[in-house]
Parts: sequence; structure tokens; C-alpha cells
Amino acid sequence: MKLPPEFISLSQEIGAQPLLVQGPGGNTSVKIEGHMWIKASGTELAEARDKNIFVAVDPAKAMQELEGAGDGSCRSALINPDGGLRPSIETTFHAMFNHKFVFHFHSVAAICHAIAEEGRTALAEKLSGLQWVSTPYRKPGIPLTKAIRESVGSRDIQVIVLNNHGIIILGNTVDEVREQINEVEQRLNLPVLAEGTTNVPTADYPGWNNVSEVSALATIPHLFQRATSGTYYPDHIVFLGPAMPALSSSELARLNPVEFPVPAVLVEGEGVYLKSDARPAQRAMLDCIYNVLVRIPADWTLLPIGEEAEAELLNWDAEKYRQALSKRTG
Ligand SMILES: [Zn+2]
Repeated sequence: MKLPPEFISLSQEIGAQPLLVQGPGGNTSVKIEGHMWIKASGTELAEARDKNIFVAVDPAKAMQELEGAGDGSCRSALINPDGGLRPSIETTFHAMFNHKFVFHFHSVAAICHAIAEEGRTALAEKLSGLQWVSTPYRKPGIPLTKAIRESVGSRDIQVIVLNNHGIIILGNTVDEVREQINEVEQRLNLPVLAEGTTNVPTADYPGWNNVSEVSALATIPHLFQRATSGTYYPDHIVFLGPAMPALSSSELARLNPVEFPVPAVLVEGEGVYLKSDARPAQRAMLDCIYNVLVRIPADWTLLPIGEEAEAELLNWDAEKYRQALSKRTG
């Protein structure tokens, strides 16, 4: 099956923009002749032109998983179960809409609004005139899809802001989707408010790299406080662990990166350190939390997902989890 080239193009284009998609985050789908082609789990939208990242599912079967059939992974809905690709964990909400095209991504502008009380309130004015709705935070998969279904109801909606997560854009043509993405991004755009300073590391930290581009997370006090006191959206915890741990320079100098459970740490007033063997997706997620926090006005009230939601997203054992939690300041 040859997928519409304009669909592949737009998927790749948003995938290549770190302010819209980070690493393997986000997913897009198209429905053609009773099948739905959706981004496969673990693949990257940025590779849409170069690789086959889409997998075909039966949307009716995916909807049955929403009603309790299968395990919620939508593997039962695969047209070719032996093809090696698994559908995205977010397949059920793609299947739920009749729209031909569904684009879901982790827009930094949308996240900035969706993780703050004042941001959520501002959406009403900023998105006025668009057919939009917001939905409460739920764990990605069946719980999120059910929450979206409840929020949308029978209304004709094109834009769904997912609290503490991202955004969904629905359309029947790729042009329509592209227009909505541009419109929403323009309306929700927030300027960068804080530039970091780069301080010289006080010690050598074997196995860790200083990521000077995001040093504001450690050197600007309110960003440091926000970065270390909570987790604001699921991909952060999946790739970087809960919140961000704060260590002193001497603690980091003594730390064996192999034994530490998360890939990035902050040293207050000094810098941000990433394990030197960190995966590109982990670096992308570090850039994401920086891009989010440097845009949120200092007087907005942030709404982290909370420890229960963190634990639900991690399959960490209790000890590993406590260890990471003990490193947070808030
Ligand atoms: Zn998502």
C-alpha cells in the first residue's frame, strides 16, 4: 500500500522539529479503505520519508480493545501480525475518530500551556474560534483514549489539548491538518524567557557530559526549582525518570554513572550533565524539558502529574523509584 505522499511529508516535517516532536514521541495515522496506517511503536516520525515506520491495523478491532478485548496494545488489530512492527500505544484514540488523518505530537507550546494553571485558563482565549477541547491527564493507552472520548463527546472537534501531555489535530485532508497545526502553534507560541549562563564545571565527572545548551535548568533558580520538583508529561519520565535529580558537585564526582538509574542530573548553579552513553532520545527529552521550562512565565503555577502517575508510568521497583525521588528537592 502506497500511503499519500503529502501525509508522509507532513509526518516527517513535524518529526524533524524539536519544538513539535522529540525522539520517538508523537504519532500520525491515515485511514484508507477500512485499514488504518499508524506509526509503529519505537519508530521516529523524522524517519517517515526514509523508512517504513507505519503499520496497518483494523480500526474496528482496535476499538474492541478499548472495550476490553485484548491487552490494550492493539496487537490483536494488526493486519499482518508477523510483520515485526507493533502499533503505537496510542493507537486506540487514532482509531476512535472517523477523520481520515490524526496527528498527535508533543508540541512544546501546547505542553507549556497544558502543564500550568494559568496556561490552561489562557487556552480559552488563545484558541477561541477553533473547534477545540482539552482533556485531563491520563496514562497513555486505554485510560487516555477513554478520557478523550468523554471530553469530545458528540462534538465536531479538530484540536484536542491533552493536559500534561501534548496535542491531537484531526482532519480529512493533509492541508487541513497542516493549517490547523500552523494556526495552533502560532496562537500558543511563547517566547524564550530565560537564557542560561555557562559556568565552568567545578570538577571532572567521568562518564558525564556537560550539556551547556540547557544549562539554564541548573543556573536559573526558578527553572532549577521547577525541573527538580516534579514530572510534567509522560515522555519525560519514560526517558529521563521522575523530575530531575539534583546532586552536589562532590556527589556527582563520586557517582558511577553505570549505577545511577537516570541519564541526566543537575548541579545547582553549575550545569546539566548527561551520561556520555545516553541515547539520542534521552538527549531529545532533555532539550524538551529545557524548551518547555524556559518559555513558561515565572508567575505561572505548574501542575506536575504527581507521584502516583509517575509510578504508574514506570515499571521500576519501589527501591529504584525511592532512590530517584530522594534526589529531588521539591
Ligand atoms: Zn503522546
